[in-house]
Amino acid sequence: MGGHGPQAPRGGVALNLPPPVTVGLCASCVHARIVRTRTGSTFYLCELSAVDPAFDRYPRLPVVRCAGYRPDPDGPHPAR
Ligand code: SF4
Repeated sequence: MGGHGPQAPRGGVALNLPPPVTVGLCASCVHARIVRTRTGSTFYLCELSAVDPAFDRYPRLPVVRCAGYRPDPDGPHPAR
């Protein structure tokens, strides 16, 4: 019996969920533009790439460090 719900293995916590998709800095950067495809995929386009080849047009996410990062004064973008 038991009836206390699923239990974690002894000495540990079971986490079988996939990691969440994270965007990182682009999610709140003033240079990021969200691009959505007809199939429903979402990409973050770095507009700095148009003027500086050091930046990828579509940066590999999550971006955890970026010299071009500038916080968007309007806050995080709505597509997270
Ligand atoms: S400057 Fe950096 S953080 Fe900002 S959109 Fe481009 S890659 Fe992302």
